[in-house]
Amino acid sequence: MRISDLLKTRDRGVSFEFFPPKTISGEDGFKQTVNDLKLYNPLYVSVTYGAGGGTQARTANTLKWIKEETDLTVMSHLTCIGSTREGMDNILKDYRVNNIDNILALRGDPPKNVPDFDLTKGEFIYAKDLVEFVAGYHYFSIAVAVYPEGHFESPGIEKDMEFTKMKIDAGADFGITQMFFDNRYYYDFMERAQKIGITIPILPGIMPITDCGKIEEFATFCNATIPQEIKKTMAPFLTQPEEMEKIGIEYAIRQCDDLIRNGVKYLHFYTMNKSGPSSSIIDSLSI
Ligand code: FAD
Repeated sequence: MRISDLLKTRDRGVSFEFFPPKTISGEDGFKQTVNDLKLYNPLYVSVTYGAGGGTQARTANTLKWIKEETDLTVMSHLTCIGSTREGMDNILKDYRVNNIDNILALRGDPPKNVPDFDLTKGEFIYAKDLVEFVAGYHYFSIAVAVYPEGHFESPGIEKDMEFTKMKIDAGADFGITQMFFDNRYYYDFMERAQKIGITIPILPGIMPITDCGKIEEFATFCNATIPQEIKKTMAPFLTQPEEMEKIGIEYAIRQCDDLIRNGVKYLHFYTMNKSGPSSSIIDSLSI
């Protein structure tokens, strides 16, 4: 099922992002997570894709497993950095045969172990190039990543928005945001996007802060600001994971409630392969 069609018929919904477990057959925890979250009748579930090569086959295997075992709509994240057109064609043909109809088209990040990696030498330089390539199949629904606080490499948020518009115009049906913890970044992004003529749905990416230390490291890399408010509330509990998780979930509930009150229809959850935090948040919302 193409997500672009689902978005036309469903006026509310959630989606869940997973990363591929090491092995599907041995991963009872992963199966349980998917089965738990299936109950929320998600619009789709997506599986991340390792830019460095490590998890590429695992992504496809995970997607195929989900399709075989459930009736969920799936989306593959797909990075193009360092890929050839021929390699990408093989992946897309395989997806098509297996009815994997949705692609989150990404550039990906240069491999950490290659410090002088030259982006411009590849057959795909930006996500836009992959969007164009995938659109050429006239088969897939295409999503792209967007950055409410700007992408960490971009010269500024205005330029970043221009590049975002270019990749959307290349054939994207919807966008998913990088995690953000202060909704003002999302509202401001949406206002700027509207001004520049972006009209596709932009799903906010929700990351419950269940471990302040770990998320802080990750958020710095992703250019996402963690509000002082949550840092202060969590500070006394840094050695108490259950308390931190409780505070993070309560914060995310308030964040999602505010988004819904302000007209947001769809929420994309970064699950980190756990069902508990997303379930607790959704159970407390009125969608
Ligand atoms: P692009 O849109 O190509 O942008 C990259 C940079 O280039 C930006 O700074 C942009 O402003 C700039 N740019 C774009 N076009 C031009 C141009 N014409 N000229 C000059 N500059 C330009 N990574 C993974 O490895 N695997 C995943 O599964 C994965 N999933 C993700 C899911 C979501 C929802 C998000 C938000 C990110 C995900 N990422 C994933 C991370 C992503 O790969 C990185 O953020 C990466 O650095 C940028 O990818 P992009 O597709 O946004 O790139």
